[in-house]
Amino acid sequence: MATRASSSAKPGTVIKAERDLTSELSFLTRALKAPTLREAVGRLAERARAEGWSHEEFLAACLQREVSARESHGGEGRIRAARFPARKSLEEFDFDHARGLKRDVIAHLGTLDFIAGKDNVVFLGPPGTGKTHLATGIAIRACQAGHRVLFATAAEWVDRLAEAHTAGRLQDELRRLGRYPLLVIDEVGYIPFEHEAANLFFQLVSSRYERASLIVTSNKEFGRWGEVFGDDTVAAAMIDRLVHHADVIALKGDSYRLKNHNLGRIPTPTDDQP
Ligand code: ADP
Ligand code: MG
Repeated sequence: MATRASSSAKPGTVIKAERDLTSELSFLTRALKAPTLREAVGRLAERARAEGWSHEEFLAACLQREVSARESHGGEGRIRAARFPARKSLEEFDFDHARGLKRDVIAHLGTLDFIAGKDNVVFLGPPGTGKTHLATGIAIRACQAGHRVLFATAAEWVDRLAEAHTAGRLQDELRRLGRYPLLVIDEVGYIPFEHEAANLFFQLVSSRYERASLIVTSNKEFGRWGEVFGDDTVAAAMIDRLVHHADVIALKGDSYRLKNHNLGRIPTPTDDQP
């Protein structure tokens, strides 16, 4: 093996054997693409000697180090690949501000049972109430749990599908997206859809029906989706597909951005009471 260091001087066979082992470990961990193991092995070996670990214990400790590095690395990779607009966690979400929203409802979504069940989640509510934050927080959990995720706004999804459609590969694209257990469709309703866009959007929602999950957010309650899709019948069919297996969460109240400005909501007579 050409890469092995060998000592030509004769400082003693023990040192030479150690050197050989060091370079052998370098070579082997590189071949296994296990850089964390490479870095950890020296320290773990010292501890193993000091604490009298069995060979099996030492091996388990080495493998454990590499496995946990890969798991966290994979999560980070999936989070980057998902293209979230900002990194938000469920832990940062302030439930005291989000009036009417039950902590345990979100905690349950955070267990990701809905992905196993191929169900959807829909967040409805005015701008600034935390829809994108919650959608992102849940989807990041999914990434960390090993699921592939993609995030985009409704308008971006439609652009993407329109491009595939023009290139004659819409079905391929829908199939490809079907391999993602979770897609996030943010901001349905911010921009009304043309007929063609509404149709593409419907195909996206239908392609996932009972097969894979969606998280959808909208600033418009369902009663106004007819305006979004330019047609009440199309909107009704869409909603039907979306909510047949879904948790629908309506966020009420004032914008979190305005929370320190007293502008977010109209004061009610009870506001000043203790
Ligand atoms: P929406 O998507 O409903 O318009 P966002 O989720 O984008 O609102 O929220 C706007 C900003 O306020 C974001 O930076 C978000 O992190 C923050 N925010 C909203 N609600 C809360 C909350 N209850 N706790 C903590 N941060 C919040
Ligand atoms: Mg938003």
